[in-house]
Amino acid sequence: MRVSAYPLIDADEAALLVLEHTPVLGPERVQLADAIGRVLAEDLVASGPLPAFPSSAVDGYAVRAADAGKTLRVLGESSAGRPFDGTVTAGTAARILTGGVVPDGADCVVMVEHVRVSGEEVTVPPSLVAGNNFHKVGDDVQAGDRILSAGSQLGAAEIGIAAATGHAQVPVRKRPRVALMSTGDELVEVGKTPRHGQIPDSNRWALLASLREAGADVTLLGIAPDEAEPLRRVVVEALERADALVTSGGVSVGTHDLVKPLLESLGTVHVGRVKLKPGKPFTFATLPSPLAGEGGPTPPDSWGGGPQGLRGGGRPDGDTKVAFGLPGFPVSSLVTFEVFVRPALRKMQGFAQLHRPTLPVRLGYDARSTPDRTEYQRVTLRREGRELIAETTGSQASSRLLSLAGAHALIRVPAGDQGLKSGSIVEAMILGLP
Ligand code: AMP
Ligand code: MG
Repeated sequence: MRVSAYPLIDADEAALLVLEHTPVLGPERVQLADAIGRVLAEDLVASGPLPAFPSSAVDGYAVRAADAGKTLRVLGESSAGRPFDGTVTAGTAARILTGGVVPDGADCVVMVEHVRVSGEEVTVPPSLVAGNNFHKVGDDVQAGDRILSAGSQLGAAEIGIAAATGHAQVPVRKRPRVALMSTGDELVEVGKTPRHGQIPDSNRWALLASLREAGADVTLLGIAPDEAEPLRRVVVEALERADALVTSGGVSVGTHDLVKPLLESLGTVHVGRVKLKPGKPFTFATLPSPLAGEGGPTPPDSWGGGPQGLRGGGRPDGDTKVAFGLPGFPVSSLVTFEVFVRPALRKMQGFAQLHRPTLPVRLGYDARSTPDRTEYQRVTLRREGRELIAETTGSQASSRLLSLAGAHALIRVPAGDQGLKSGSIVEAMILGLP
């Protein structure tokens, strides 16, 4: 065993360093069909009002409120998409259907249920209120309104409003292309029978899931052996086409731990050890693009497919790439993913909100602290009256994935000897509510 040359960095400081050195990717335009989950690169502004015309909310008759109680002559019909071109004058009405344009001259719509119809005439109720039963121009959106802000994620409603305001394409940030690699001579492909001393490469699939959930476009590099040259070849080739590298294993101080020296040789290691439990060996580096001394310029962007960017931006030449060396222990790799990688991927995508939401919860157990490391403990949550109660998921060993499976939140336990007492209220980082 060597002694690590890397300083132990405070967990919050390490998180800030990661974000500080992570670039925001450039914009591109995508069709609405491809926009789900993407992050807006620019504010969307309405070019016109919504609705664009006074639009009936009901089926009935468009009339003048001043004609309340009268029997009116029906001049014609305004249905959705087929406006009535005439004008509603005193003593007249137009039949109107939901979504139809309220004709000139009319100032309210009477529901069909509230009138008496006889031939070409209609008798309206004794009291009518101007403005009733139709949507006015600009009721929903005024021309020039900012309808969606840069940094917001596009879900169904956001895509709907973009479509309603006539945007067939939307400007979004590129998705991070992430190369994912497991390292370790003990690893075998999942599904193959491990020989004595071997284990399935489970991190690959767990991290693939985390990466995809965080919006990344992932390339699987498979398992790299604990040998410097093959490891280097795989990483260098992958980085030609990736914005980020994520590895698991090979970052502690054993003699087979080759990821740190490799990243050191290719770029700058900003974080080499963290006062964090689990996840002390977490490593973060930035790498120049193209890699120094690794041959010619990066080939043209052939990933991602879609329409090319607005204002150039983001990729592929001349940008800094980021590399995350996650520890091998399954819980350590997923917790460091949550603490460091996920916020960084969100920054790359331009998310306004980088971190998981937090909620106040009451601890249902004594959370013991670690003297010199911030600890992220895994908990389940349950409702008790108006409160959320956090219970430990049991043994917090960094090898025990069951401490994270089914966990609803992470509790940040500050370093020290105080711990957090059962019954105290703390902010929990929400992974998924029960
Ligand atoms: P390392 O960080 O390389 O020292 O790995 C620490 C431990 O994590 C190893 O001894 C394995 O038990 C486990 N481990 C490493 N890589 C993986 C992987 N890809 N999938 C599952 N467990 C792993
Ligand atoms: Mg290893």
